[in-house]
Amino acid sequence: MVSPGSLNGRAAYSRLRRWFARQARPLPWRGETDPYRVWVSEILLVQTTATVAAKRYPRFLRRFPTLASLARAPLAEVRKEWEGLGYYHRARYLCQAARLITVEHGGVFPTAYAAVHALPGVGDYVAAAIMNFCFGGRIPPIDANVARVAARLFAIRGDVRSGKVRASIRQHLQALMSTGRGSLWTDALIEVGALVCTPRQPRCERCPLRADCCAYQHGKVAEYGLPRNPPARRDVNVACGIIRRADGRILIAQRPESGLLPGLWEFPGGKRKGHEPLAATCRREIKEELGITVIVDSKRMVIRHAYSHYNVRLHVFECRYRCGAPCALGCQRFRWARLGDLDRYAFPAADRQIIAAIEGGSSS
Ligand code: SF4
Repeated sequence: MVSPGSLNGRAAYSRLRRWFARQARPLPWRGETDPYRVWVSEILLVQTTATVAAKRYPRFLRRFPTLASLARAPLAEVRKEWEGLGYYHRARYLCQAARLITVEHGGVFPTAYAAVHALPGVGDYVAAAIMNFCFGGRIPPIDANVARVAARLFAIRGDVRSGKVRASIRQHLQALMSTGRGSLWTDALIEVGALVCTPRQPRCERCPLRADCCAYQHGKVAEYGLPRNPPARRDVNVACGIIRRADGRILIAQRPESGLLPGLWEFPGGKRKGHEPLAATCRREIKEELGITVIVDSKRMVIRHAYSHYNVRLHVFECRYRCGAPCALGCQRFRWARLGDLDRYAFPAADRQIIAAIEGGSSS
């Protein structure tokens, strides 16, 4: 590991700036300095790829063009706009933060790092990015991409997710970023991580930092910048039911505000226990969630969906409502909805596939 400040920050900055001018992806938030718009883009990017975020960012800003419009919006509307993006607690954080800024900061986005960092859903990285892009900050923006670049650049050994390694990366980047614009450092380091210094097979020959990079100079790139023992992905089986009433309405339930997919609507169901038959899982989970008894008919489809730490197989059954008055035992609310009204509710991507299949009359 080189010591902090031993790299020539001015020279590295010049190389990065020239490279960035030629190679940067044309993303819709490029050059943005308005803190509301930067904040929205950074929250989008926390768990969403730049490609997807670039499509949804203009749409979100058309729907909520100002901080005031977001603060006024009901959470259900913001959640609906967030549909398909995953990590839905981000939609709630955006609402909470916009309202907090309205109440505590008179509707003006805070300019101090501590106040920005205190907003719901804003961590070290997002706070640094907002300060650098909007308020002339020069704070190391350390996300997974930048941590990888820095670990290789300075030859910092260890798991890039560990607190000790992150602290060392922060110290080294802080010294490197003592010159130049923080916004350029942020943009360019992120682009290097995304385009050339990728986790596997980085394209060092195209990297603007190769003359500065310790790992590259010593031919040891593979030894730096990767997490140790990434957690193994589990497989989880879930069963849910399309529960139809005699008048054709379908029963949907709203998930709790905490946990996975907070506040989204879904077809009722839940996780299989042990080697339980999946039809029994479906019947039991519906009983536990809504207190009703259903007849489980045929399996309609199986949907595979990957979350951050596990893979879900969602087994979807056709069900008939048999008896019992539905009540919200394991959910916030429920609705007997018309098929044509389902578009008004925010559903996870997997449940949207079920709706598409019902509308199209298909099975898979
Ligand atoms: Fe990453 Fe290679 Fe560039 Fe070093 S030279 S920062 S290892 S891409």
